[in-house]
Order: sequence, then C-alpha cells, then structure tokens
Amino acid sequence: MLTLPVLDERPIDPPPPGANSESTSGVAVKPRRLPEWLKRPIPSGGGTYFTKNLIGELGLETICESGKCPNRSECWTRRTATFMILGETCTRPCGFCAVKRGRPEPIAADEPDRVAEASARLGLRHVVITSVTRDDLPDGGADHFRRCVLAVRERTGATIEVLTPDFDGRPELIATVLEARPEVFNHNLETVARLQQHVRRKSQYAVSLAVLEQVKRLSPETRTKSGLMLGLGETTDEVLETLADLRSIDCDFLTLGQYLQPSPRHLAPVRYLPPEEFDELGRLARLMGFHEVASGPFVRSSYHADEMARK
Ligand code: SF4
Repeated sequence: MLTLPVLDERPIDPPPPGANSESTSGVAVKPRRLPEWLKRPIPSGGGTYFTKNLIGELGLETICESGKCPNRSECWTRRTATFMILGETCTRPCGFCAVKRGRPEPIAADEPDRVAEASARLGLRHVVITSVTRDDLPDGGADHFRRCVLAVRERTGATIEVLTPDFDGRPELIATVLEARPEVFNHNLETVARLQQHVRRKSQYAVSLAVLEQVKRLSPETRTKSGLMLGLGETTDEVLETLADLRSIDCDFLTLGQYLQPSPRHLAPVRYLPPEEFDELGRLARLMGFHEVASGPFVRSSYHADEMARK
C-alpha cells in the first residue's frame, strides 16, 4: 500500500486497488526518483526576464507560476504565458494542484484590460486564459471569462483559448463564455474515471465530459480540447477508455503529460511513463480520431498551445 502525503491537514485517500505502477513493458519504474528523461538542465541567462517583469508590472497571475509548471523557463523565454484570472485562490481542494486554495479575492474589474495589455506587449498571436475555480460566485466567473476574451480580441486580434473550470456543468454559464467566441475551449478531465475522487475531489468525470459536450452542442465550430496527467495509478486500458469517451463527444485536441508532484504535500506520482510510452499513446490517440495530439512527459494543457490551435 502506498502512503501518500497529507494536503492541508485533510487525509488523501491512497490509490484504489489496481493502481498501475508498471510500464507496458512490465518494468516497474520507481516513482520517488526522477528518471533521466525528466531531468532538465538549469537554464542560464535571463531569457524569462521580460515576461516575468511584465506579469509583475501588470499585477497578473499565471498558471505557469502558480502551478509550478516545469516549462516556465522555456515558455517565458519564448515570451508566452498562460494567464490565470479570477484571483490566485481556488475553492476546490484538488490533490495534484499547486494553486493556493481557500477564500478567494474579489474579482478585479480591470483584469480583462490588464490581460489584454500583457497579450499585446508580449506580441501573442494565441492567448490562453485559465482561472481558479470560483464556486463562491453565482456565475462561477463565467462572465469575467467572457469579458477577458473580448478585451484580448479587441486589443490584439489574437486567437483565444479558454481553459475553464467545470462551472458545475451548467449550460447557461458555458454559453456565457461562448458568447465571446473563443477559438478553443479547453477543459481537462485530468485523470481517468476511477481516480477522479482521489485526484480532484469535488469534481466529477461525467460533469467534465458534459462541459465539453455542451460546448460542441452550443458552438459546433469551436475546437474542444482536454488533457490528462498520467502516472497517477491509471492503467493503459483506462486511458484508452477515457480517450474513447472524449472522442464520443467529438473532442478535437488532446494533451497527455506526466504528473509531477509540486511539493511533498501533494499527491505522489505512482510511476513515471517513459517517453516511448507517451509516443505510443499519442499514436493511438491519433488513430482514434483526435485532430491534434500532444503527448510527452513535459506536455501541459497550454504547452505550445499556439501550434496546436493553428493546425
Ligand atoms: S506549459 Fe503552459 S503553464 Fe506551463 S509555462 Fe508554458 S504556458 Fe505556462
């Protein structure tokens, strides 16, 4: 039995029976020590300086920083970032996520303008906007999403991708975001059905699927996108079942990446998938009909999102 660390003093359930800690080749991968393919050289130079300063100057949040993303140095050097709106405090206690949780801040009315300003000064042609989950707000922050998308489009003409919370699956809130006509609507399943309660308590697999289904129903021209973190104890069959569920609702884009533990207080990874296994899953996903797939240890929802959206 794996012993998992405690998050915010609330016990986290151990992985359910059947958690898969072996690679498809049958070779066990020790989860505690980072394998070679997950080690990256420490970046030299000040490539991130411009992006970091701009984010600070405009008082914006990014999931790059709040989520302790391993790609931050690369992305910020490329002058790209994923804006996190609606504050820096989340109302849901997901065991994988590094974002602060607790009582959120009031909405900043000028945030859409600041996101638009940052997008313009970074020269972004594709802007990704995500948020914390705001279960405390009557509309879950949907109208603020809408305002941010409109502000960025008006200022930059960029294509826009939203990476939203589930809005409890409420169609009227999804419709509010869609009023701004984002080109890509991303909502992550994060993990397979069996591990949902373990990985993202208070969220439900069926509700997340319904979000993506509603987007296609309300706005068939909008590209839908979803992603999974792997290495949390899922089996390959479960991953393929999840991908089939996504294809059954016509999900267009897929990201598959390795779950990395942001701190010892978060869920421990069960295993590290080798790059070849990501390649194979990516190949299978394409065969299943996804238009675009990014699959690799360092892939995140917004990693090279501009390239995926262009295709
Ligand atoms: S992958 Fe996404 S979240 Fe990570 S640094 Fe790049 S833009 Fe930010």
